[in-house]
Amino acid sequence: MGTTYESRRGTLYNERITFYGNVIAWLVHFLLCLIFWRLDVTSLFLSNALSVTYYTVSFYFVHKRWYGIFFAGLFIEVIYNAIISTIILGWGINMHYFILMMAYGVFFIPSVTRGQRTLATVLALLIYSLLFINVSDGIETLPEQVEQALGLFCILSTVMMIVGLSFIFESAVVKVTDELELSNERLQILASTDGLTGLLNRKVGHERISEAIDQAARDGVPYALALGDIDRFKSFNETYGHDCGDRVIQQVATTLSDVDGIAVRWGGEEFLLFLSDPACDFYGTTERLRRQVEETHLDYAGERLHVTMTFGLAIRTDHDTIEEIVKEADDYLREGKQNGKNQVRST
Ligand code: GH3
Ligand code: MG
Ligand code: MG
Repeated sequence: MGTTYESRRGTLYNERITFYGNVIAWLVHFLLCLIFWRLDVTSLFLSNALSVTYYTVSFYFVHKRWYGIFFAGLFIEVIYNAIISTIILGWGINMHYFILMMAYGVFFIPSVTRGQRTLATVLALLIYSLLFINVSDGIETLPEQVEQALGLFCILSTVMMIVGLSFIFESAVVKVTDELELSNERLQILASTDGLTGLLNRKVGHERISEAIDQAARDGVPYALALGDIDRFKSFNETYGHDCGDRVIQQVATTLSDVDGIAVRWGGEEFLLFLSDPACDFYGTTERLRRQVEETHLDYAGERLHVTMTFGLAIRTDHDTIEEIVKEADDYLREGKQNGKNQVRST
């Protein structure tokens, strides 16, 4: 398994990019064929005719999406033509720049290993060095204007191709980074929420409520934790099945998610709420939620089901640990259950 970028490298080049690249290469070599034919430079006329033939065949590679073969052929063709042209026309014609372009370009060839790409780059640089040391004047002399035009064309097209490759590379990196960020977000949501209700799960809920407690204590704001448990929940499971129990939990979670604070699925049918209320009416807030649960019926299998909840409420004005506060809320919750259920119990 490679990195995401590594595994996506093969898709850097789509059919359109390679197709137009092939068209440009074909046209350039066709043009060079005509130029060298007019100038009577037979060797370069022939080598460019060979290139035109290759780029005619390589349309098939593009069509088949054999990008590995396509780029390997392109590498050999460019290096070969640059060597021949530099030897015949001399260093000043700038055809050698295409070798440098290939030394950079091989890093974008898909479907080859990093080792092969490094080797190809070293090879290209070696060839470049050998030409640099051994070639100065060429065998053939071109008219000065043609030499200038060709020299300029070589250097400009090399720079343009390097810029083009860099753009493709950059957009691929941006695309992969976007995908990674998106999947990170998805993972974060998956890791922090409870699958059944969409509320925060216990682990992340614990963290968030702890942070909220710290913040409230720092700000000197009173806060409260309400621990709620669905009454006689087992009877929904036993009478109508587990699916019905799940639906009850989901419906209660939807009601509790309206709370102005933090709602957490704390356990099976237990929910923990962090309440921060400048008006300090924690009891009133929890009682409203209890009533909302009581009034929201669930229609299941042709029956109207009534759901109620009991809450234990622990209020604080200073800092305390979440464990201590939950313990107190749990004591009140138990009191409420023993006292007839469907109520909010507090100090
Ligand atoms: P009480 O009124 O005293 O709260 O009684 P209860 O029936 O609600 O009793 P208890 O709290 O012990 O019941 C919890 C049950 O909830 C036990 C477990 O089988 C069930 N349960 C826990 N998680 C899930 C869940 O995700 N889906 C369903 N359908 N049932 C669950
Ligand atoms: Mg219960
Ligand atoms: Mg319970």
